[in-house]
Amino acid sequence: MTAQLIDGNALSKQLRAEVATRAAALTARGVKPGLAVVLVGENPASQVYVRNKVKACEDAGMHSVLEKYADTMTEAELLARVDALNNDPSIHGILVQLPLPKGIDAHKVIEAIAPEKDVDGFHVASAGALMVGQEGFKPCTPYGCMKMLEFIGVDPKGKHAVVIGRSNIVGKPMAMLLLQANATVTVCHSATPDLAHFTRQADIVVAAVGKRNVLTADMVKPGAVVLDVGMNRTEEGKLCGDVDFDGVKEVASWITPVPGGVGPMTITMLLVNTIESAERAAAAR
Ligand code: NAP
Repeated sequence: MTAQLIDGNALSKQLRAEVATRAAALTARGVKPGLAVVLVGENPASQVYVRNKVKACEDAGMHSVLEKYADTMTEAELLARVDALNNDPSIHGILVQLPLPKGIDAHKVIEAIAPEKDVDGFHVASAGALMVGQEGFKPCTPYGCMKMLEFIGVDPKGKHAVVIGRSNIVGKPMAMLLLQANATVTVCHSATPDLAHFTRQADIVVAAVGKRNVLTADMVKPGAVVLDVGMNRTEEGKLCGDVDFDGVKEVASWITPVPGGVGPMTITMLLVNTIESAERAAAAR
């Protein structure tokens, strides 16, 4: 079997066009959706991420503010900026790019963001809402993975989903979203003794580890859907995922490429969360 590709760029294009339509409608009602992106320090990868986020926002007709600070910024100064953005009515989403420089407690900063503007979905209030099935912002990467399943017409209900990785930003919320969608979910991590034992039983595998070739063809059930969240580099410096793409595509029914799979969906879902936040703010006016 040769798997069909799940095209994250094509799905993103479609979803971003929907966001742009909603943004135009809100703007016509006098509420221009706004996202603030805060970057502290000079991390080169973070610089690229924030640029892409701001550009995507502007392309969708939304207002965006990029605040860049030197890594000498103190935690108190950053908390003061977050507080100002919490109180700025032109801003509906606040994103503080991680990682933060040493000396700034990222947890404290995320918790300072008003939950109604937490478009990254990292606040404990958002995580709690997801846990108990209440309305809240879903973290963008796992939310994007769920949209991809929807896009290809795969309903997780009754399926066995195996999530590899248990971080707060990808693995754990991914597992919660799949559970909410009535999958039977297994979460694997670095202390899982025999990863292949679990992945071979999976109808859906989500790899979110950050290591190349964590999932190889012999570990995949024929016909499984494979979503590759990982972002790694080959020896030649080429971007690649956690999955041995060339091998696994011969076994899976659907697979995401890297690049062009989950990556573009993360920014897209940030836009979706921001427009939802702006719509809620407009409805409450
Ligand atoms: P993370 O916080 O480092 O978590 C990695 C997880 O993988 C941990 O739970 C770890 O287990 C587990 N793990 C490590 N080695 C393993 C192994 N050999 N077998 C099974 N599990 C193992 O990383 P993250 O933030 O979740 O990100 C994961 C990957 O996704 C990274 O490559 C990151 O760059 C990428 N990512 C991509 C996007 C995107 O937009 N495409 C967004 C976010 C992240 P323990 O908990 O036991 O340590």
